[in-house]
Amino acid sequence: MSSTFSMDPGADQLAVRDWLHGFAADVMRPAAAEWDEREETPWPVIQEAAKLGIYSLDFYAQQYFDPSGVGIPIAMEELFWGDAGIGLSIVGTTLAAVAVLANGTDEQIGTWTPQMFGTPEDVRVAAFCSSEPDAGSDVSALRTRAVYDEARDEWVLDGAKTWATNGGIAAVHVVVATVDPELGAKGQASFVVPPGTPGLSQGQKFKKHGIRASHTAEVVLDGVRVPGGCLLGGKEKLDERLARAREGVSRQGGRGNAAMATFEASRPAVGAQAIGIARAAYEVALDYAKTREQFGRPIIDNQGVAFQLADMRTRIDAARLLVWRASWMAVGNRPFTAAEGSMSKLYAGETAKYVTAQAMQILGGNGFTREYPVERMHRDSAIYSIFEGTSEIQRLVIARAISGMPIR
Ligand SMILES: Cc1cc2nc3c(=O)[nH]c(=O)nc-3n(C[C@H](O)[C@H](O)[C@H](O)COP(=O)(O)OP(=O)(O)OC[C@H]3O[C@@H](n4cnc5c(N)ncnc54)[C@H](O)[C@@H]3O)c2cc1C
Repeated sequence: MSSTFSMDPGADQLAVRDWLHGFAADVMRPAAAEWDEREETPWPVIQEAAKLGIYSLDFYAQQYFDPSGVGIPIAMEELFWGDAGIGLSIVGTTLAAVAVLANGTDEQIGTWTPQMFGTPEDVRVAAFCSSEPDAGSDVSALRTRAVYDEARDEWVLDGAKTWATNGGIAAVHVVVATVDPELGAKGQASFVVPPGTPGLSQGQKFKKHGIRASHTAEVVLDGVRVPGGCLLGGKEKLDERLARAREGVSRQGGRGNAAMATFEASRPAVGAQAIGIARAAYEVALDYAKTREQFGRPIIDNQGVAFQLADMRTRIDAARLLVWRASWMAVGNRPFTAAEGSMSKLYAGETAKYVTAQAMQILGGNGFTREYPVERMHRDSAIYSIFEGTSEIQRLVIARAISGMPIR
């Protein structure tokens, strides 16, 4: 046996966890209710995070390349324990950054990722725009077109994106568009739209059920011209890929597999966010159950309540194990033969919804009011069975992976 197995995060990971926990407890938690009510991007909190180095490319790169694999899940769990809406405002930029890291050339990564974060003095955010009104779960149905203007070596983008986190307020937008609609998902490519590019505008900003501090909006692309160098990965690579797709040649380990591996590697991070919300609600409920008295004794004295808490904690720990396993697999390039990344996001998302609902129940009437944070946490948890692939889509991916069948 060559490898060792350990469930202990190392000293480095624990130090990061404690540092982030302090920020989550001292800065995010006290601000959570206010920004939820305001339904606005909490720029002062992002600025504070930037000053401390929590909102920075360096910080996420360090966690991303942490050899244990659990750097990102630990960071996500702590920040979202603080507050999910503010948490998403802080980490939303990484969605776009990961798209550039996964598809861009070294030069593109070096040019665009720093601009996504800005500086502590001049903080910026970025947006990843894939979803469209008629293309949510079915990403192959995107209608936004990218047409190459050879004379000017420019790409022209036209279309309408929706549900974009930071859409319209971002410095850098990453837009997925179709170059050849007949090829479905294989005919798509990703483009960087640099700051201030004419033709890109914000459409409707959505009023949401939860994560209300995070900005979600439509993005309109009307004759948006970007330089040829904004096509992620470059034109040569795109032309080769399109030619293969037109010939019906699917290279083993080609783009489909690469995209799948990227999703499997990124989904655990989203699962970790859900775990942060669940843990926060569970802790409030546990404290409450120990101190709230009815019938002359703390309500936790009733097995009916204590068993609820036991189930909540068990599911949280099980979800975290799935998330850590998938993150460990990703960092070691282990193949996700059973879609273990999707499994972790599915289970963690459903756990957050279950735990926050149980927490509200344990708090009784108080749980239903905004005097206590579980009401907000319950609303925030609902997105975790919707974005980054709905729970049904995760099940579809898992079912296909374990069966090898084209389940529909
Ligand atoms: C707050 C928020 C932030 C978001 N941020 C971003 C972002 O930054 N960038 C971005 O590109 N997108 C973003 N999204 C979009 C998000 O990823 C989509 O909402 C999600 O993929 C679902 O798409 P849809 O809303 O069109 O639902 P639909 O695809 O219309 O699904 C509706 C229902 O049908 C079910 N369904 C669909 N197909 C199947 C199937 N084959 N089998 C079983 N059930 C199925 C779904 O599971 C769901 O329950 C965000 C969404 C929200 C709400």
